[in-house]
Amino acid sequence: MQVILVGPPGSGKGTQAKSISVKYHIPHISTGDMFRYHLKNNTPVGLEAKTFMDKGLLVPDYLTNQMVDLRLQEPDAKGGFLLDGFPRNLEQARFLDDLLKQQGRRLEHVLWIDVEDKIIIERLSGRRVCNKCGNISHIDHLQSNRCSCGGTYVTRVDDTLEVISDRLKVYHDQTEPIVAYYQAQGKVRVIDGSLAEVDVNKQIYEVLSK
Ligand code: AMP
Repeated sequence: MQVILVGPPGSGKGTQAKSISVKYHIPHISTGDMFRYHLKNNTPVGLEAKTFMDKGLLVPDYLTNQMVDLRLQEPDAKGGFLLDGFPRNLEQARFLDDLLKQQGRRLEHVLWIDVEDKIIIERLSGRRVCNKCGNISHIDHLQSNRCSCGGTYVTRVDDTLEVISDRLKVYHDQTEPIVAYYQAQGKVRVIDGSLAEVDVNKQIYEVLSK
């Protein structure tokens, strides 16, 4: 199964992707996580991506596309994948279509998790991420900043109000147009991402089980 998740930052793509990946035995491939890994390990990709990520801008396509190309060639992605945060503009969407065509496969579902900006701003400004296990929580649900794994809940550097509004602008200007691109291919399924996590999950499973 080849699936992509499209939605604004904070729409719950990462959380939903984790459970879809377990249920359908397909790898969860998050370009945001991959870039954060590179950043943490000071790799050449990380050093190049940092300036863009700090400002909430898209990392250049040549770097992102190459990273995804290599990842999709890994054995675990041969039988299917769930892409989270890629493609994020029309150029990347066309690149992915060409890449899959060369490999004799194609996208089956584009899940568009739609959430209005007001809700996104509330969610992201209170979002905390464990610096050890990566678990995501919200300040309203945390008793302390200590995670059960022993790590500490921290604010992501790009979850400040200023960067959130830049990321939303990038989403509307560059990422939303890919919805129309995939609608023309009849692949888009709209998911109401403003609902509770379990209800969003239900909608997604309904689509994927058809
Ligand atoms: P995310 O965790 O998906 O919100 O991604 C965090 C940051 O990584 C984004 O704000 C971008 O700077 C970068 N990034 C992630 N995915 C992409 C992509 N497909 N294209 C370009 N930049 C990306």
